[in-house]
Amino acid sequence: MVSSEHEHRIARRFATFDQDGNGYIDREDFGTAAKALLAEFGTPARSGKGQALYAGAEAFWQGMAGIADRDGDQRITRDEFVGGAVKRLHDNPDRFAEIARPFLHAALDIADPDGDGLATVEDTVRVLRVLGVPEDLARTIAGALDTDADGRIGEAEIVPAFARYFTVPE
Ligand code: CA
Ligand code: CA
Repeated sequence: MVSSEHEHRIARRFATFDQDGNGYIDREDFGTAAKALLAEFGTPARSGKGQALYAGAEAFWQGMAGIADRDGDQRITRDEFVGGAVKRLHDNPDRFAEIARPFLHAALDIADPDGDGLATVEDTVRVLRVLGVPEDLARTIAGALDTDADGRIGEAEIVPAFARYFTVPE
């Protein structure tokens, strides 16, 4: 049974990926997300961290296309997203974590200026917000991740949380 609540949620997930809002998800959207993150944290695109983010964005796109782009036209339509990505990722959240990990790893690296592998809760909220997660939800996610309440979040926490956001109901 498909509720309107469910449809609404899927529409929001699709909008998060469709960064430029042109109605389909393609490689450009991942490049746009990477560019927005670099701008948010003032990281040069040509830096090692910037290049790692673009490489992660490309891997993320390739993984999503492999899962959802059924007709191989290098675009994920809303139908392909709903019929392919959502169902398959829901059935296999680990797979989603795997394809998103290089991108999220690079994003956390950018949000982690002292390089200790941990980002602050505030910086994690910034990352999620730039990626299109609504502010209040980004705060809920980031706050819940900081289980020991030291104000810092590591990759081991953020990758599964991001996967949950896209694959299971809120
Ligand atoms: Ca798009
Ligand atoms: Ca397609």
